Amino acid sequence: MSKDKTGADVTTNGDAGSGEFDVIIVGAGPVGLSLSLSLRDAGLDVALIERLSLDAITAPPYDGREIALSLRSVEILQRLGAWKHIADDEISPLRSANVTNGRSSTCLRFDANAVGVDKLGFLISNHAIRRALYSEHCDAGEAILVTGAEAVTLCAGANGGAVSLADGRTLRATLLVAADTRFSAARRSAGISASIHDFGKSMIVSRVKAARAHNHVAWECFLPGGALAVLPLNGDIASLVQTFAPEEARRQMALDVNAYVDAAAMRLKNRFGALHPASERFVYPLVGVYANRFVAPGFALTGDAAVGMHPVTAHGFNLGVQGQEILANHIHHAVRRKRGPADPAALAAYERDHRRLSAPLYWSTLALAELYSRESFPARIARRALLDVGRALPPARRLILNSLTQPLQTATG
Ligand SMILES: Cc1cc2nc3c(=O)[nH]c(=O)nc-3n(C[C@H](O)[C@H](O)[C@H](O)COP(=O)(O)OP(=O)(O)OC[C@H]3O[C@@H](n4cnc5c(N)ncnc54)[C@H](O)[C@@H]3O)c2cc1C
Repeated sequence: MSKDKTGADVTTNGDAGSGEFDVIIVGAGPVGLSLSLSLRDAGLDVALIERLSLDAITAPPYDGREIALSLRSVEILQRLGAWKHIADDEISPLRSANVTNGRSSTCLRFDANAVGVDKLGFLISNHAIRRALYSEHCDAGEAILVTGAEAVTLCAGANGGAVSLADGRTLRATLLVAADTRFSAARRSAGISASIHDFGKSMIVSRVKAARAHNHVAWECFLPGGALAVLPLNGDIASLVQTFAPEEARRQMALDVNAYVDAAAMRLKNRFGALHPASERFVYPLVGVYANRFVAPGFALTGDAAVGMHPVTAHGFNLGVQGQEILANHIHHAVRRKRGPADPAALAAYERDHRRLSAPLYWSTLALAELYSRESFPARIARRALLDVGRALPPARRLILNSLTQPLQTATG
């Protein structure tokens, strides 16, 4: 199958042939692509189905997301072979992070040196991660990627399943995996419910040039009217992240971009000096999603389709890339024992392990995000108390630091 001008019916690494596979992954976002790479060498026929065009997958456009990658995630990207496709100047080290509440001078500091490392992780643009994973997909030359193909319905079962595409084609596989965003249509199609939490806020992200050096320290502040963060990128560039109620977000987006960054510099009390726009702005609605099941017979959820995190703790992709590795390890194990990729025991083990990893992070992030998005007096007191506890209890701080920097222990069923 070849590329057409509309981007439809295009494949990489071969064509969809008979439409019969061992594993079909719906969604070639960062987690879907990671899973297909994790499954190489398993001797399985894997297909990815992606609604975006081949151009958008080959050269993903900048989308404003600067992903704070933990050292664990970097290790996984290295194992997948994707890390080498990310240029040095696209990798910004994150040395420490400061969190403050309102105009208070109390500051909770997370410093990499406290746990004997020189950085907490790296900031890398989402589009650069996607591009690197796609480059490795092409180099690996194994999984088939069908682009310009929207999955509309999905029917999974113990004896195999089928995905129907908008263009009328049907592809079949022993195991279907949904990696199609937190608003996953595949999850819905498979009859899996999810706990969905709408924070009633929107996040505006953009790049700015800062007059004062950030020294690779992230700065997050919970101000009346919404949270504000400055994430340090290479040179004098930073990512400006602001959270507002939707009406205010619309007003902010209607401002001229120069007026928008000037207002942000004022909210920052000129901590970083004058700010100048360095990109367009992007808005994301803040919605948390936790699927009530991660698996069903012949079916699994991964990435945001399984757990869609609030970005405040920067865990979404980190959790997704760890989760797909857990799933792939259980599939490899099942295949080695001739039980096939949809082995119920493998899927159950994935459900158990990924829930154990994600549930505490998801629910504590949700509570934190709620606490930090409220303006009430009790919420302000509680925020202050939390920062004080964090400052007074270095072990609590060390626990958080370790979760960012230590290698992941993954089970293999
Ligand atoms: C502002 C912001 C900041 C963030 N910061 C961080 C951070 O610092 N650290 C971190 O770890 N995470 C962060 N995240 C979260 C991170 O971006 C997500 O967790 C990650 O992108 C999830 O990847 P995914 O592949 O599961 O889903 P997605 O990136 O949503 O990709 C899903 C893919 O599925 C495709 N698709 C959807 N429906 C269909 C269909 N029906 N048929 C075919 N294809 C389909 C889509 O086109 C897309 O390519 C942030 C998110 C936001 C919004």
